[in-house]
Amino acid sequence: MTRGASSIRELMALPTANLVAEADRIRTERYGDGVWIRGLMEFTNRCACNCLYCGLRRENRKIGRYSLEENVLLDAARAAFDRGIRTFVLQGGEDPLWTTDRLCAIVRAIKEQTSGEAAVTLSCGIRSPGEYRALRDAGMDRYLMRFETSDRELHECLRDGVSLERRLRALRDLREAGVEVGSGFMVGLPGETEKTRRENLELCRDLELDMIGIGPFIPNPDTPLFAAAPGTIEETVRMTAIVRIILPDANIPATTAAGSLFAEGREAMLAAGANVLMPNITPLSVRMLYLLYPGKDTIRQDGVQELDEIAGHLRALGRTMRLDRGDSRSSARRRGVAETAAARM
Ligand code: SF4
Repeated sequence: MTRGASSIRELMALPTANLVAEADRIRTERYGDGVWIRGLMEFTNRCACNCLYCGLRRENRKIGRYSLEENVLLDAARAAFDRGIRTFVLQGGEDPLWTTDRLCAIVRAIKEQTSGEAAVTLSCGIRSPGEYRALRDAGMDRYLMRFETSDRELHECLRDGVSLERRLRALRDLREAGVEVGSGFMVGLPGETEKTRRENLELCRDLELDMIGIGPFIPNPDTPLFAAAPGTIEETVRMTAIVRIILPDANIPATTAAGSLFAEGREAMLAAGANVLMPNITPLSVRMLYLLYPGKDTIRQDGVQELDEIAGHLRALGRTMRLDRGDSRSSARRRGVAETAAARM
C-alpha cells in the first residue's frame, strides 16, 4: 500500500485509511501491542515566557500560579513507582524558581528513591548546553521540548519573539548531551498551511527524534488566540500516522490534547501508530491550575488510581499496558552504534 512511498510529500497525498493501516503495521512490527505508561507530573505552572497560544503565558493573570515542593513530587513518584510505573515526566513552564541545581537535585532524588530503576524525563524549556549536561549527569534520561511549528515567522510570532533557530539549537544541545530527545508540533495553529505541516514532518525526520508529541491546537479563552479555530482530529491522526511511518522506532504518545478536544481522540492516535500514554499523577489539588488549554480531560482523574481502568480499556482495543521504562528503539540503536564505534577504536 504505502510501502515504497518515499517522500513525505507522497505520503501526504495518500488517503487517511492507507496511512493509518501502514502506521499500525509498522507500530506492531516495532513495538508489538504494548502501550507504555509515563507518569506525568506538572510540577510548576509558572512561566517567564509569553507564547500566544498557551494558558500558562506570563501575561495570563487569570490563573493561580503554583510550584510544587520536592517532597510533594517525591511522594507522587513513590506512589506511582509502587504501582509499577517506571517513567516519570516532570513538565513545567520556564520557571526561574526551578534553577538547574534544583532540577538536578530532584532528578537525583527520584533516581535514588527508585534505586535507579525509573527513567526521568524533563520538559521545562530552553536551557544552556552546560545545564543540559548537568541534568544528564544528575541522571536525567530524556528531555521533551516541542518546536510546535517549523514556520520561522509563525514560530517567532507565536512564541513572542523566541526564534525557531534558538529552539532547534537547544534540541541539538540535548542530542549532544546524549539523552533521548523528544519534540513535536501542534496541528491547526492559526497561520499554518499544508507546507507548514509538511515541513513539520520533515523537521521531525531531520532531528531523528526519539519521541514525538503531536496534538491539535486548542484555543484557550485566556490567550490572544481565544477566537481561533481548533485543529482537527483527522489532520492530527494523519500527522501521527506519517510520523510513525517516517520514524518507525520513535515513541509516540496519544496526547492529552487529542483526548480533550475529541471523544476517542487518543484511541484514534493509538490506532494510527501511537504507543505511549501519559496519565497525570500531579496532585489533584493543583491539577486544575495547569490549564494549557480548556477542557483538559485529566483534571479529575488520578493517574495512579486509573491504571486498572486504562489497562482494561487498552485490552478492549487489543493492546497491552506496559509499565516498564520503554526506552525508544531509536536511542537503543544509536547507543549500539556508538558502542560499536568505541569498540573499534
Ligand atoms: S508554551 Fe511553554 S514556554 Fe510557552 S508560555 Fe506555555 S509553558 Fe511557557
